[in-house]
Amino acid sequence: MTLPDAKSLVDYAKSLDCIHCGLCLQSCPTFRLTGAESSSPRGRIHLMRAIGEERVEPNAAYGEELEFCLLCRHCESVCPAGVRFGPMMESARASYESVRPSGFLRRQLRSFGFRRLLPGRIALRLFGSFLRAVQVLGLDRIAFLVLGERGRDLVHLPRIAPLSARRLLPETIEAKVENGQEAAVGFLEGCVMPELFPHVNRAAANSLAALGARVHTPRGIVCCGSLHAHNGDLEGARMLARKLIEGFEPIKGGDGEAAPIVIHSAGCGAHMRELFELFEADDPWHARATAFAARVTDFTQYVAPLLAARTDVELDEGALEGPVTWDDPCHLCHAQGVREEPRDILARLVPNRRVELEGSENCCGSAGIYSLLRPADSRAVFEPKRAALERSGARTLVTANPGCQLQWQTGLRRAGSSVRVLHLAELVERALSRARSGRAGQQGHSAQQDA
Ligand code: SF4
Ligand code: SF4
Repeated sequence: MTLPDAKSLVDYAKSLDCIHCGLCLQSCPTFRLTGAESSSPRGRIHLMRAIGEERVEPNAAYGEELEFCLLCRHCESVCPAGVRFGPMMESARASYESVRPSGFLRRQLRSFGFRRLLPGRIALRLFGSFLRAVQVLGLDRIAFLVLGERGRDLVHLPRIAPLSARRLLPETIEAKVENGQEAAVGFLEGCVMPELFPHVNRAAANSLAALGARVHTPRGIVCCGSLHAHNGDLEGARMLARKLIEGFEPIKGGDGEAAPIVIHSAGCGAHMRELFELFEADDPWHARATAFAARVTDFTQYVAPLLAARTDVELDEGALEGPVTWDDPCHLCHAQGVREEPRDILARLVPNRRVELEGSENCCGSAGIYSLLRPADSRAVFEPKRAALERSGARTLVTANPGCQLQWQTGLRRAGSSVRVLHLAELVERALSRARSGRAGQQGHSAQQDA
């Protein structure tokens, strides 16, 4: 294949940052699985550089290495040269889509998934109801007959709630201000969260309100576009980024300043913090995306200092069984550098019960839609994590990303494990509501004594 401009197929300038030290190799889940240099970060960068220099053609083997990568960004955390592998891989995947010898069906499925399903609330609602019908009719047990390997885990998926329980959040939730000042935050309920984990959305939003923030969830904003960017649809990601920026720009605090945008999904947060990467520096959207990105904060970062100031938020012994462990979502620890805050929150909520998970910064194999696209690889990446969980003795695993939550729930059910998997927001909400009822009880008691 002769290409007019091979350098445009990869981020050639960024590929030159790699100094070939190899320190990233053991951090990479696909290298650990195969031991193959070509399936390592250094190997992939080397391939990209070779494509840019026209020494290698962007053939199917190259495409396979791009797709085998989980985009977990663990390699970035350990790289002494500061190579930013994530944006490089996103741009390589997008360019590869333009030369991929792909079939008609694949293009139609991609277009339906990225352009119709993910950005459309009605389409997502229908999809959620379809999945629920499949579960209610028991068709998930035989899905593998039609979907092959990809359908095997359908039976282990968490149960989809009826539509009445998959309520969207109101546009505004008022702050429950008791003594302090009211704040304002923007909140993204996301594309799949309202279908799979509506209770987690409510827990996060209610926690923010209980901690004194007026929570604004702009209507019509559905998907942040991170799945698009990770999977080679940068134009789709740009389209959604513009909507996102327009939807959140009007949200201001009482002081007229742009309000923080609190994200409880690590994958979405990582993408939104780097939204400017989607636009060239001379594009007017670049400046708006930069201002938007500066407002984005993870739920754990927003909540940790507020909880640190409280002495009344602790879960009672019976709320959770046994030791509790935290699994770092890759896009929280590697892409956003957030590691301490979730641990601080757990130390406050369940003091003396937290146990560390060995290799908690290793990828769980969820990686957006990776577990759907490459189920066997995803399971192979998950298995050492499951074994580490077993060794930890934890009875509850806490995380903060819907993809990870789904991967853990599905994988543990497949393995017959009864360890519970929860989002950190669920624990925060329970502790805050316990603190509230404790205070209400005390006030009632004092009122009785006064009477
Ligand atoms: S992003 Fe993850 S899977 Fe991809 S090369 Fe880096 S460490 Fe390996
Ligand atoms: S650690 Fe960084 S510089 Fe070293 S080989 Fe890996 S990507 Fe290249």
